[in-house]
Amino acid sequence: MAKHVVTLIPGDGIGVETSAAMQRVVEAAGVEIEWEVAKAGAACIDEFGTPLPEETLEAVKRNKVAIKGPITTPVGTGFRSVNVALRKSLELYVCLRPVISIPGAGGRYEDVDLVIVRENSEDLYAGIEFEKGSDGAARLIDFCKAEGAGVIREDSGISIKPISVTASRNIVEYAFEYALKHGRKKVTAAHKANIMKYSDGLFLQTAREVAKEYEGRVEFNDNIIDAFCMNLVMNPDWFDVIVFPNLYGDIASDLCAGLCGGLGIAPGANIGKEYAVFEAVHGSAPDIAGKNLANPTAEILSAAMMLDHVGELEAAEKIRQGVRNVYARGEKLTADIRRATRSDAPSCSCSEFTDALAAEVARL
Ligand code: NAD
Repeated sequence: MAKHVVTLIPGDGIGVETSAAMQRVVEAAGVEIEWEVAKAGAACIDEFGTPLPEETLEAVKRNKVAIKGPITTPVGTGFRSVNVALRKSLELYVCLRPVISIPGAGGRYEDVDLVIVRENSEDLYAGIEFEKGSDGAARLIDFCKAEGAGVIREDSGISIKPISVTASRNIVEYAFEYALKHGRKKVTAAHKANIMKYSDGLFLQTAREVAKEYEGRVEFNDNIIDAFCMNLVMNPDWFDVIVFPNLYGDIASDLCAGLCGGLGIAPGANIGKEYAVFEAVHGSAPDIAGKNLANPTAEILSAAMMLDHVGELEAAEKIRQGVRNVYARGEKLTADIRRATRSDAPSCSCSEFTDALAAEVARL
């Protein structure tokens, strides 16, 4: 098959290590990829004046497919998340996160198999915020009071939660189409419509309307997000495809990762009508960055999703099978997995794990 050109944004923190590991394993799967490396993150600010250089966006647009490592977002500064900016600029409205147990990875269940479909463009991630004490916050507080909408304390910071019919319809349709395409039986919408009637309520109402168009083909139900969390932990087999507004989807992703053995093994993708950017669920893990301790499985499984996307199905399956084999053997596993499995066996480094996996994938 022809060579693919893929933009690689290694990111920072453990991203540097996990991206290098991912490249080695993809190469071991025998697929020819030309990696076009592009920069993003705080380290770019001096050189480009922005953490998300235009040439990085252009590279993704040119190749249409990218894989990225995590990028650190400093907390409480004016520096906005590069991840959110990337999703917005490329209109990556879907965050897709398959959650599948890997036997030997320390999951609480051996047979979790569900898919998170998270809305990626609005909700509390819209980035519409008013700082405590600002003119904007004061005007908004006055407006809410004058409208009789409610009293907001004067010393409040305010984040706006917009939820639209357009984005809700797009994401729920994606969830149903994904279910149909992948032979999945049910879509569940998670929400808090009982409290946020005009935002989550609109999401739920839209989901119900879309569900009608798929009646008889894909089942539909809904769950209030807090009940959903308990149901998920106790009975993950109740769920199949789950569609969320942005914030709940973010939180549920880590919860699901925890059920399966942790962030070290949870892959994902950000998908739009034109472009797709594949990336692990985890962040840049500053606590272990640069120490060769990171588990690269999540980024490697994200690469398998990327290979599916570009039509390299055999190589993608080789990588997934290689991962299952290495975990089932249990000889070379990183420290996060030893902790998840409560094992005293010695853990290996990121590079030792990568050596073992690359050898296994090459053998298959
Ligand atoms: P994190 O996911 O980086 O780390 C949480 C915990 O999980 C840490 O103890 C870390 O050591 C561990 N961990 C994560 N990935 C691991 C891996 N592959 N192997 C072994 N252990 C792993 O979350 P955080 O600490 O909340 O965030 C750190 C930074 O990453 C923040 O700046 C945050 O904004 C950013 N972040 C970026 C992305 C992204 O780029 N897509 C996603 C989430 C967080």
